[in-house]
Amino acid sequence: MRIAIIGAGAAGCFCAAQLRKWRPEWAVTVFEAGPKPLAKVAITGGGRCNLTNDFQGIRSLAEAYPRGERVMKRALKAFSQEDTIAWFQARGVPCVLQADHCWFPRSQDAMDIVHALLNAMKGVDLRLKSPVVSVEGPEVCSASANNIADATSEQTSVPVKDLAETTAGKGPKVCSASAKNIADATAGKGPKVCSASAKNIADATAEHTSGPWHVNGEAFDAVVITTGGAARGLPFLEGLGLEMVPPVPSLFTFTVPDPGLRSLMGLVVEAVIGLQGTAFKAEGPLLITDWGLSGPAALKLSSYAARHLAESGYKGNLSINWLNANENEVRALLQKSALDNPQKLVSSTHLLQARLWSHLLDKAGLRKDIRWAELGSKGLNRLTATLTSDSYPLSGKSRFREEFVTAGGVALSNIDLNTLECKRHPGLFFAGEVLDIDAITGGFNLQAAWSTGYVVARAITATLSARV
Ligand SMILES: Cc1cc2nc3c(=O)[nH]c(=O)nc-3n(C[C@H](O)[C@H](O)[C@H](O)COP(=O)(O)OP(=O)(O)OC[C@H]3O[C@@H](n4cnc5c(N)ncnc54)[C@H](O)[C@@H]3O)c2cc1C
Repeated sequence: MRIAIIGAGAAGCFCAAQLRKWRPEWAVTVFEAGPKPLAKVAITGGGRCNLTNDFQGIRSLAEAYPRGERVMKRALKAFSQEDTIAWFQARGVPCVLQADHCWFPRSQDAMDIVHALLNAMKGVDLRLKSPVVSVEGPEVCSASANNIADATSEQTSVPVKDLAETTAGKGPKVCSASAKNIADATAGKGPKVCSASAKNIADATAEHTSGPWHVNGEAFDAVVITTGGAARGLPFLEGLGLEMVPPVPSLFTFTVPDPGLRSLMGLVVEAVIGLQGTAFKAEGPLLITDWGLSGPAALKLSSYAARHLAESGYKGNLSINWLNANENEVRALLQKSALDNPQKLVSSTHLLQARLWSHLLDKAGLRKDIRWAELGSKGLNRLTATLTSDSYPLSGKSRFREEFVTAGGVALSNIDLNTLECKRHPGLFFAGEVLDIDAITGGFNLQAAWSTGYVVARAITATLSARV
């Protein structure tokens, strides 16, 4: 059996390593456009590689995977975060769990992960500087009654009676289908599509699935696409008529043109940040930077609202709940402070870090020399509102130390969620970020690459073994 994997990233290499383990006698070829395999893995986690997460800090899978949660539920059952750690430890990479639920190699060196994968891939035909430019499917035979009518009006079609010959492998390649498929087929990119009666469809389908795929003109029994974030689309698959979800960036920080906020640069606050006018919000450490807002809470919000923010041109208003508490709780806290310290200056009773507290009193329009007893209900309400729904304009996005993933890619509607095989094109599989799956930071993205790579290797092993 010959398997082509397109892309030597985390998902492609993991899939190749599993195929080697289960079927060492099969020929696995990995095509990589770049000069090095696993180039991105080598720089993950700032060169330390946050290879997975213990999943204990999230309440639901959807919290970690804003897109692709349903696939990940199944994929994690097949290959979980515990399996990831066991896999790498068994290959000589001891791992450590940090307090923030992130797993790293004990050496804090991403190259250990790279070397473990490359060792496990020994025997794989890894072709570097080999960009794939064409993927062609085997002959596909299926059509509706309408297509049969279309077929008879097409030059390339033959009467239905001749299909018996075709399905027996003797007849001509019969090509006629929907207008779209004809365009694809004539563009030379798509699979060859023929029409048939309902009875013949079954025969024809049975026949076409045994035909080879062609990658850059070379024949393979199955093809795995693991080309990563599909920001530039998948030009070599255009003829296959796959539904794509337009790619947009995820995991970025926010540019906030507010000098008062920026003057607090360096502060980290446990807060809730949201996008006003939407239900998008995220909690966690929020870092104030010299350009605006960053830290886990900001990155999470960028992930949850990735598509909405792209559509709005990264403009809008951010709201911050600085105490991560609701209005009633905050009002009660302030009332207690007023009762306990009536003569104390509000500015000297720090409910938050001193610099931030002072900034928020300014925003609430409160004098620095005001005492708790003088606050009154108006002052109390203004301070409560500032602490729970402070607002800042958002003027753009910035990248998080070059670390970002792509939301979007191959639509999951194209894919059998159990095997990650393309529903329309048997023998064609997808794994990793090329799919419309992406996660917040914390090792969840690499876990998606390992788990989906594993699912594909398992599905190919099962399908092709049945043919041997
Ligand atoms: C700087 C940075 C740091 C990150 N840190 C972390 C982290 O610590 N933890 C975490 O979980 N996630 C992290 N991520 C995200 C994570 O790296 C990705 O989600 C993951 O690498 C995706 O794996 P993949 O195999 O799907 O794609 P990739 O790793 O992107 O691999 C795709 C490969 O396909 C190749 N390719 C593309 N087109 C073709 C073609 N036509 N022919 C041949 N080859 C092709 C590319 O050259 C590439 O090598 C980080 C991302 C970045 C950018």
